[in-house]
Amino acid sequence: MNIPMVDLKGQFRELQAQIEAGFREVCETTQFILGPRVKAFEEEVAAYCGVKHAIGVASGTDALHLALRAAGIGPGDEVITTPFTFIATAEAISYVGAKPVFVDIDPATFNIDVNLIEAAITEKTRALLPVHLFGQPADLAPIAALCEKYSLKLIEDCAQSFGAEYGGKKSGAFGDLGCFSFFPSKNLGGYGDGGMVVTNSDAFAHEVQVLRNHGSRVRYHHSTIGYNSRLDELQAVVLRAKLPHLDEYNHNRRRNAHLYSERLKGSPILPPAEDGKGLHVYHQYTVLSPARDQLHQALTAAGIASAVYYPIPLHRQEVYQASCSSCRFPVTERVAEQVLSLPMYPELSAEQVHRVCDVLLDAVK
Ligand SMILES: *Cc1c(COP(=O)(O)O)cnc(C)c1O
Repeated sequence: MNIPMVDLKGQFRELQAQIEAGFREVCETTQFILGPRVKAFEEEVAAYCGVKHAIGVASGTDALHLALRAAGIGPGDEVITTPFTFIATAEAISYVGAKPVFVDIDPATFNIDVNLIEAAITEKTRALLPVHLFGQPADLAPIAALCEKYSLKLIEDCAQSFGAEYGGKKSGAFGDLGCFSFFPSKNLGGYGDGGMVVTNSDAFAHEVQVLRNHGSRVRYHHSTIGYNSRLDELQAVVLRAKLPHLDEYNHNRRRNAHLYSERLKGSPILPPAEDGKGLHVYHQYTVLSPARDQLHQALTAAGIASAVYYPIPLHRQEVYQASCSSCRFPVTERVAEQVLSLPMYPELSAEQVHRVCDVLLDAVK
């Protein structure tokens, strides 16, 4: 039984008629850019997340970039984030000319350690940018309290957490700006690149709308240097077809995660922890083991995919090494050597989860 990390075919088959009809409609009306479907999808996401505004952009990376610019972050500023994330989080900070300042993580949740943030705040700090890694929101209440105390912006990287919750709110609704990715393998994935910024602020929403469309408020009038960063109508067709099913998809991810954890409990393989503060939507199901490489080999030999997210923390990346030569993040470094993400998608069957666990438990026997 071959088991992939993620299988996108099931959702396509389920929604094929609707998606194909939508594609045909877009082609026949030839409204490809910023048409009625993107607008409707923006309204649907705003309602789903419980926020005032949602603005479609070209990718999750652009969502972060435009959110930082809208928040007025620029050269000379510092933005505090985690070193244990995908490079895009820090790239976006660098795009606006600011400096990413990394803070070590909590080993139980893989998210930024809220107890270490305050010591990293300087007079140059302008924003905190927590990442809701693997689908579990960072501990946002103490993070928001620090933002309040030091007048910092709170920008959430929700690329892996569409539908997750913290303290009764959807991820993205807590901060000043929330940034989503619709990369195909994300919890809500399109058929290409796409992203979205959500916010309750009229001013930030307006700024992102202007920035995504060449700095233009009125057609052919340009008030600032903007970008070509728009979500397109074909992506909106796919995303609108999937959004009504997202809670069910996330529910099935959680069901699979709990089955994995049940099977691995008491073994030398440590299952991921839920912090009990909201809803973890398991973009990834990631275990810890000192024998990580051996487990990966055993799974590969059995035809089962697994992956290391992320093998090299950002402060150790060539591009950020020079600016972070004295950075020491012992938790991040240990975790990067021990993490292994297992196959995870809503359509994964109980039988497949059992098969993965059989191979893993056999390998550590
Ligand atoms: C995927 C991802 C991004 C970037 O999203 P793209 O749509 O691929 O540009 C940013 N941050 C995190 C944590 C991600 O997982």
